[in-house]
Amino acid sequence: MSKFDKHFKMSEEDAIDYIKEKLDYFDADADLIASEIGDGNINYVFVVKDNKSGKSIVLKHADILLRSSGRELDVDRNRIEAEVLALQNKYAPGLVPKVYMYDPIMCVVVMEDISEYKNLRTELLSQKIFPKFAEDISTFMVNTLLPTTDLVMDSGEKKDLQASYINKDLCKISEDLVFTEPYIDYKGGNIIIDENMDFVEREIYGDKELVLQAGILKNKFMNNAQALLHGDLHSGSIFANQKGLKVLDPEFAFYGPMGYDLGNVVGNLMFPWAYSKVLVGNEEFEKWVEETISDVIDKFVEKFNVLYDEIVTDVLAKTPEFKKWYLNSILLDSAGCAGTEIIRRVIGDSKVADVTRIENVDQRVEVERMLIGLAKELIKNRQEFLSGKEYMEMLKKV
Ligand code: ADP
Ligand code: MG
Repeated sequence: MSKFDKHFKMSEEDAIDYIKEKLDYFDADADLIASEIGDGNINYVFVVKDNKSGKSIVLKHADILLRSSGRELDVDRNRIEAEVLALQNKYAPGLVPKVYMYDPIMCVVVMEDISEYKNLRTELLSQKIFPKFAEDISTFMVNTLLPTTDLVMDSGEKKDLQASYINKDLCKISEDLVFTEPYIDYKGGNIIIDENMDFVEREIYGDKELVLQAGILKNKFMNNAQALLHGDLHSGSIFANQKGLKVLDPEFAFYGPMGYDLGNVVGNLMFPWAYSKVLVGNEEFEKWVEETISDVIDKFVEKFNVLYDEIVTDVLAKTPEFKKWYLNSILLDSAGCAGTEIIRRVIGDSKVADVTRIENVDQRVEVERMLIGLAKELIKNRQEFLSGKEYMEMLKKV
């Protein structure tokens, strides 16, 4: 009998008992302390550290109730996270935390402590530059996405994987918060500053073409089981330092269109860019972001093309015409999903600090309008964003 035979919401003390009982990781005489460091809305994250040896480990624990609102959320997300991290580590070694164990009863993923790397969103808020970012994140995406498609895998095996990563609850969150509510506020959840209310009424709710395109992108999100996505690849899921990066938190993973991941990365780079443009004027930083956005796209394309020729097995997909069509459709989705990500972070209820920390109302209005303008361009003219150059040109015009 162990107290961990039945699920309950763990405390810091429980985390210490848990790791001692479950894993032979620390020395018998270790002097362990635990702290809960979760900063999201969903789960609990404990770092357990041995004061003697300095060794540490991380436990990510899912409760049956959401951390923020207290409503229920399927704990299967924890299994999905554990399995997807393991899979990503196979395809992109070293770019995600190593998983040491997964416990379906307590809903715990025990993983490598990657505290050496810092939250990319926070780092970009202080205009830090990461020269290797485009290189590493493009590798991560190409290497984890393409191999999970049915161009590469046996189509039956791919369907089994797809079934295993049906992620109803978390997909529903994205369907609503990313694609539906920002355009039709049917739950009244949007949060819009008074000064931008008219602007949003006109430029978003009132733009029928935009609303249609959001619906088309949502339909793609729900019905194009192209690859096993990370599913939540915003800059708070990426931790970076000058050596490289680690991608965390794939609990939203499911089979969807690759452009959703690529678009998320690109869209999230535009927040600190707009912040700097309006509030700081750090030209070196802005230039780095512009080049990075462009490089993320171009390096994705370059690496995708190389890996495609190496690993695609589907005979019909091996024709150059198909390959070109396939990659183009990913790039279209990416531009569109970069746009939907930007809009949902500006007017939806799950905002980013890049916007909310702006205290001066006039500056906030300016940043929000700038971002919405970029997002609309990305969504409505997405067929034009087929390389990094088009992103660069759009940003240069602002
Ligand atoms: P949630 O899914 O609840 O949002 P995250 O996976 O985003 O949780 O983790 C929340 C925070 O916990 C992260 O922002 C990070 O600071 C910390 N964290 C998560 N996993 C690790 C890890 N393996 N090593 C170090 N810190 C981590
Ligand atoms: Mg999360």
